Amino acid sequence: MVLNDSVAIVTGSGRGIGRAIALELARAGAKVVVNYAGRSDKAEETVELIREAGGESLAVQADVSQSEDVDRLIQTTLAHFGKVDILVNNAGITRDSLLLRMKEADWDAVLATNLKGVFLCTKAVSKGMLKQRAGAIVNISSVVGLSGNVGQANYAAAKAGIIGFSKSIAKEFAPRGIRVNVVAPGYINTDMTETLPEGVRSEVLRAIPLGRIGNPEDVAKVVRFLVSPEASYITGQTLCVDGGMEI
Ligand code: NAP
Repeated sequence: MVLNDSVAIVTGSGRGIGRAIALELARAGAKVVVNYAGRSDKAEETVELIREAGGESLAVQADVSQSEDVDRLIQTTLAHFGKVDILVNNAGITRDSLLLRMKEADWDAVLATNLKGVFLCTKAVSKGMLKQRAGAIVNISSVVGLSGNVGQANYAAAKAGIIGFSKSIAKEFAPRGIRVNVVAPGYINTDMTETLPEGVRSEVLRAIPLGRIGNPEDVAKVVRFLVSPEASYITGQTLCVDGGMEI
């Protein structure tokens, strides 16, 4: 129970990778706030799974791209659990299309949730973390943020932006004992990837040296390590969890 007495917020943890992270942190002893955008049924399921495992949890609806929502998320967390020790910025969306067909609204939506959301949530928890002189933040990027991808210029820009943002904040916060790291997943089985055509899926599989598509738990275990005291000398790093895709 390496995270005993810790309080964590995991954005977008009603389903997919976020749910696995919320469960993994709870199993390690953290109290976990499960944030979601619209699917309250899924968020309540995550909370129930944590409670069944003996943990404490609370679901809070908040759109991470809206500063009023983010402030309410942090205030609700503080009212229930008194502090925030861990923030995992996981909420993310895709609006894929080739650049010539990409609508301005698709660019704005992806940048707002995937990059501005990380800024707003990090800023909102930072006051408390700086005061308590401790904290761990993990931002979920993507291998697409490192290598780019056809049809994902908006998503790649946001995910690359997360890496630059995180390195800057890691430098800013290090003197106060707050660590900031990035996890860049490869191809992980979730709702986000299930809509890809079969042809694209098998092409992706051929590009993974370890020969399998990842599970949300593969990512969650790495996040648990990075927020734990076991990683106390690691900050500003980007760790790919991708079966070797990025080699
Ligand atoms: P997912 O299954 O589509 O789940 C996305 C989660 O984010 C949901 O809980 C959703 O809430 C929440 N969300 C979306 N917009 C939000 C907003 N504006 N405010 C708050 N929450 C919001 O996605 P996933 O595959 O688990 O992906 C999780 C993260 O990993 C994303 O950042 C994604 O870019 C990244 N990633 C995924 C893969 C992959 O292969 N799956 C690879 C690399 C990186 P609702 O349930 O309420 O809609």
